[in-house]
Amino acid sequence: MIKGKFPIHKFNSIETPFYYYDVNLLQQTINTIQSEIKDKPYHVHYALKANSNPRILQEISGKGFGADCVSGNEILRAIENNFDSNQIAFAGIGKTDKEIEIALKNDIFTFNVESIPEMHAINSLAQTENKKARIALRINPNIDAHTHSYITTGLDDNKFGLDEKQIPEILALLPSLSSLKLIGVHFHIGSQITNLSSFKNLCYKINEIQKEFDNTGYILEHINVGGGLGVDYEQPNEFPIANFKDYFNLFSTHLELRKKQTLHFELGRSVVAQCGSLITRVTYLKKGIKKNFLIVDAGMTDLIRPALYQATHHIENLTSNQEALDYDIVGPICESSDIFAKDFKLNKSKRGDILAIRSAGAYGEVMASQYNCRDFAKSFFSDTI
Ligand SMILES: *Cc1c(COP(=O)(O)O)cnc(C)c1O
Repeated sequence: MIKGKFPIHKFNSIETPFYYYDVNLLQQTINTIQSEIKDKPYHVHYALKANSNPRILQEISGKGFGADCVSGNEILRAIENNFDSNQIAFAGIGKTDKEIEIALKNDIFTFNVESIPEMHAINSLAQTENKKARIALRINPNIDAHTHSYITTGLDDNKFGLDEKQIPEILALLPSLSSLKLIGVHFHIGSQITNLSSFKNLCYKINEIQKEFDNTGYILEHINVGGGLGVDYEQPNEFPIANFKDYFNLFSTHLELRKKQTLHFELGRSVVAQCGSLITRVTYLKKGIKKNFLIVDAGMTDLIRPALYQATHHIENLTSNQEALDYDIVGPICESSDIFAKDFKLNKSKRGDILAIRSAGAYGEVMASQYNCRDFAKSFFSDTI
């Protein structure tokens, strides 16, 4: 069994649970993305919602990525951490007036609009501020991402996006919304997508939709295909960096960009998931009737993915090399869903052992809560620990 490299001697004196980020792996991941897109008219906006820890954001903004935000506070957080406001895309079905005003004040790149009422709201606020708001239509392409239903966003029965059939109505409406400027179309079909054929289907769909725009006089300066590229949660040591080569190549091959058009991506998970681990100590071993429970000091309040979408994470015992046994690894929270793994093979463990719950860099720390009056887990970085 290959294990990750951790400065375990330093972990001994730190109170668990805590998040540990491998900065080197984050940088390698960012560099891989950059080298894959460098000769192409491509822009990557990092989706802040995956991880908005300032240190992580600074690594990413420092390399020239744009930002994808889904709230007014994310816009402010992005700007505080050196993302260019003119590279910020703002998505979300429920943008409030206050959030729209934040975006207008900061002259963001684009509002990805998700409904006609939202277009009216942005238009009137932009008019008051004497501004022209750049918008992209978020179109729901009705494509199955073949991922968990809670993270599927591009099907007809999802709450996101505009229906393709509304395009003529919207184009007819736009001349009356004089403070809006249509500059693109946006899609986002879901998250943790490992079957790349879903993205191929998205390309075909976009090619069709582009044809609809060709005769309207509207010039789409950009296409935004959202995020969603998955990572390998089972084998983080074998596959620490997602397959960006095939991912970007797929769009170069199948998406028909028009002259001068740029292609935008909003990657979250695939940028940050593998660099983060949740480090936890074994509190107790409890022999059940049928199970060996390993009770650890991290819980669903620190990492909710297993409880929220039955997600699995690879787990390693960093302090044992004994034979592997089957354990149910559970947290201390008073909820039956507070389980990290069932029947999981782990080196024989004892009270006090230190475990790493891997691939926790995305949708981990950002989703933490203080349920049960728990403290938030702190974060540590490989180069400053
Ligand atoms: C969540 C989200 C993303 C990022 O998705 P990942 O699966 O983390 O890459 C991108 N765009 C939008 C609009 C999102 O809501």
